[in-house]
Amino acid sequence: MSATTQLLNSIPVDPLTGAISVPIYQTSTFVQEAPGIHKGFDYSRSNNPTRAALEKIIAELEGGSTGLAFASGLAAIDTVLKLLQSGDEIIATDDIYGGAFRLFTHVYQKFGIKIHYIDTTNPENVAQAINEHTRLIWLESPTNPTLKVSDIKAIADIAHQHPNILLCVDNTFASPVLQKPFELGADIIIHSATKYLSGHSDLIAGLLVIKDAELGAQLKFIQNAGGNILGPFDSWLVIRGLETLYLRVHQHAANALNIARFLEEHPAIATVYYPGLPSHPDYETANHQFKPGGFGGVVTFRLKEDTEAAANAFFKKLRLFHLAESLGGVKSLCCHPAGMTHKSVPVEKRLQTGITDGLIRLSVGLEDEQDLVNDLQSALAQFVQKEEQALV
Ligand code: PLP
Repeated sequence: MSATTQLLNSIPVDPLTGAISVPIYQTSTFVQEAPGIHKGFDYSRSNNPTRAALEKIIAELEGGSTGLAFASGLAAIDTVLKLLQSGDEIIATDDIYGGAFRLFTHVYQKFGIKIHYIDTTNPENVAQAINEHTRLIWLESPTNPTLKVSDIKAIADIAHQHPNILLCVDNTFASPVLQKPFELGADIIIHSATKYLSGHSDLIAGLLVIKDAELGAQLKFIQNAGGNILGPFDSWLVIRGLETLYLRVHQHAANALNIARFLEEHPAIATVYYPGLPSHPDYETANHQFKPGGFGGVVTFRLKEDTEAAANAFFKKLRLFHLAESLGGVKSLCCHPAGMTHKSVPVEKRLQTGITDGLIRLSVGLEDEQDLVNDLQSALAQFVQKEEQALV
């Protein structure tokens, strides 16, 4: 059975009514026959049938034992961090999403958890950073926004030489269509389901998938204790988004590759970051790690005129790419990482990871590929004209 058929087949038909769409159980509580005697549900913070359906579907899709659905991607990350205690250390990819950086550094550090940010594209750096306090290796791959790809299998092999270390992979950018971290040795997968999994820019949600059932139960306990849950309606919306996941992700990736190739040839562009281009430093890793079907729907590039003013002038001319945070939706978006998604990262660290003022991130949507290229071409024309005028 193909992966997309398997996914559709894992979305249950309602056993009670035969409804083909998973019912939305919009209820806080469930009537009990006697104290503690019920149909498996007592209170929606602990468990809700619509959320449970989503959790089962994502667990099956990623190949884990347990799925958990949260109010946001960051709430999912926060729940993993609560496995740690004072004195524990984390090794994290150096250019992780700004919100994750904020949570690690500005919230958890004060509880005595130490974080080492390193370039995880070289597994040797991970091996060297491990010490007796390391409990968690946090990989984002590809990263946001420069799309660095880490070799998950090589890092899992290093992590698993130490029985106390868990490897957690943020699989948001690749989605389970293009990257399967459990097949490569990860212990926990996190998704901002706000992005490709729901796919329509209409909700905020996070998911965790855990390989080992005992660890899954531990994280479910933390989730219930903290109350970080996804509501029934948003759970249903994510399930509906998942129905078209394979189609969407493949088309996002095809449109993105076309745009990356166009940008690479454009005279106003200094650098294009897309793991599907042979010029990307991690192309070889991406090529063996990604599933057939492409390299994702995000393309990042730097204008030759590497300034905020140039980036703003570019954004102003676009008609199809809307200036907004987030990615993974059907409509194309563009964003200025330095002034938007990565504003909470200190400037020196931003510059170290390539987030300059002229860096622009595109979330390539599902509009016609030529229309998207035309939109970019007309917004970039101003820079070519400027250069021509300078030569006169
Ligand atoms: N992980 C990655 C890679 C992200 O890009 C984001 C948000 O942009 C998050 C996690 C956080 O997800 P959310 O915005 O759903 O809390």
